[in-house]
Amino acid sequence: MPQRYDELIKNNQIWANQKQQTMPEYFARLSHSQKPPFLYIGCSDSRMPLDTFTQTEPGELFVHRNIANQVSVTDINFLSVLDYAVNVLKVKHVIVCGHYRCGGVAAAYEGKVKGLVGNWINPIRELVLDYNAELNLIDDIEQRLDRLSELNVIKQVENLYKTSIVQHALAECNVCFQIHGWVLDLKTGLIKELELPLEQWKAKGLVPVGMAQ
Ligand SMILES: [Zn+2]
Repeated sequence: MPQRYDELIKNNQIWANQKQQTMPEYFARLSHSQKPPFLYIGCSDSRMPLDTFTQTEPGELFVHRNIANQVSVTDINFLSVLDYAVNVLKVKHVIVCGHYRCGGVAAAYEGKVKGLVGNWINPIRELVLDYNAELNLIDDIEQRLDRLSELNVIKQVENLYKTSIVQHALAECNVCFQIHGWVLDLKTGLIKELELPLEQWKAKGLVPVGMAQ
């Protein structure tokens, strides 16, 4: 694991040289344009580079990451990314990917973090209160936090459907892209596709009737 700053630069030079030799067209193609089919909304955690876990290359994932993969409708940074991904890049899939053992989720559960980070993860604190009864049925604290990570992802997918960007896009094209909720298990490296309460969201008018998971 590199610890020194100059190791990063050296590693980059080695990687770029190797790529040039094995795939001479690689950088010419990469610098031309991007047409990624996926928008990845993930946690800032250093263990969560989704390209490694999905074997995707530069140019294949459009990315927005923040602490505990929040979909905040007041975050102009996030909304700009979403707008560009949906309306300009026209991605085919939007993926909210959380992970088990998420520090942001654990901090929200404990309710001890103050300041800006405490503010940021407050929506998860509200989830803890909403799902208190379900969570308390799980004796093991790690499993309880894992379940909270899942509930957090499902909530963020619901928030996505609530944005005017997604609502307008779906009204125009109905099923032009799909939204998925994932959690990554850092103990196995495997992705779990979460079941989303689409029927419930359809009943609320949040999701088009023709939308399938
Ligand atoms: Zn995290």
